[in-house]
Amino acid sequence: MARILLILLLLFIGYRIFKRFSSPGKQVPFGWGDRREGTGDAELVQDPQCGTYFLPGSGVSARIDGRKLTFCSEQCRDDYLKNRSPSKGP
Ligand SMILES: [Zn+2]
Repeated sequence: MARILLILLLLFIGYRIFKRFSSPGKQVPFGWGDRREGTGDAELVQDPQCGTYFLPGSGVSARIDGRKLTFCSEQCRDDYLKNRSPSKGP
């Protein structure tokens, strides 16, 4: 009888671990998203060009129309500037 309880307990623990891995929510499974020291701002920013989320430290920032925008790469920054189509007039 004790063995059955032990098996049920193991199944329960396994189920909980599986559930944690299968649900990519804000819950960090174990030490996965361990914050490194030095990178105080660990919030992700979104690339306005391609929509990719990335760390601000790894992106390329540019000041456009007085606003500071951050892109994931120089390619996206250039594309954004191209697509911006400033109204200079003919
Ligand atoms: Zn991008």
